[in-house]
Amino acid sequence: MTVLPAVENWWRTDESGDTYLIGGKCTGCGTYVFPPRENNCPNPGCASDELALVPLSRRGTLWSYTENRYAPPPPYPSPDPFEPFAVAAVELAAEGLIVLGKVVEGTLAADLHVGMEMELTTMTLYVDDDGVTRTTHAWRIAK
Ligand SMILES: [Zn+2]
Repeated sequence: MTVLPAVENWWRTDESGDTYLIGGKCTGCGTYVFPPRENNCPNPGCASDELALVPLSRRGTLWSYTENRYAPPPPYPSPDPFEPFAVAAVELAAEGLIVLGKVVEGTLAADLHVGMEMELTTMTLYVDDDGVTRTTHAWRIAK
């Protein structure tokens, strides 16, 4: 079985099996961005056009969340039958970023509350037409 990221270069998994997101960090002012990119600093007061690709914190604080109870329309992949899932906005304090992601299967809005600690993992997003399992970054309640 082949397993590949749904989107390339948004995260890496280290030797210990821990997954971390890759962000862009401005070499001029230190502002972070996610998804990663290597130019175009978002800080309007900064003239730098160079962002370094860096690992982001694996843990953050739940800033907001919701639960999706309807299947997204095409072209977004969705399991059939559709299963509701939670989406989390997690604040990475060190980077000053809020990163959206799906929440792992089995955790819904009733299990979540603002301020709780979340950690990064990955999950299957869909199986493509070639039978390749496509994965995405995801949030789970920190252990
Ligand atoms: Zn900058």
